[in-house]
Amino acid sequence: MIFKYAGIETELEDHDCPHCGKPMEAWLAPPDSGWSVVLVCFNNQCPHYKDSDQDIINKRDDCSLGCRYALNPDNGYKPFNLVAMCF
Ligand SMILES: [Zn+2]
Repeated sequence: MIFKYAGIETELEDHDCPHCGKPMEAWLAPPDSGWSVVLVCFNNQCPHYKDSDQDIINKRDDCSLGCRYALNPDNGYKPFNLVAMCF
């Protein structure tokens, strides 16, 4: 896929989430995260995401805090957990 931000076009590999099989989406991380563009599974039904909220202490019931499956293109598409709030 081609992802555009700040006038820059970045070519990213297409990846499907290994947990739910949905295509992953490019997401521009906040500047202070140290990442640039990452690939994220934004499927709320993803088993990886749904199971993750059991592990988070002090989770608010009205907030869908969880760990989404993500890949970092800057790091050879290495998987990591993106802690996501209130999406
Ligand atoms: Zn998924």
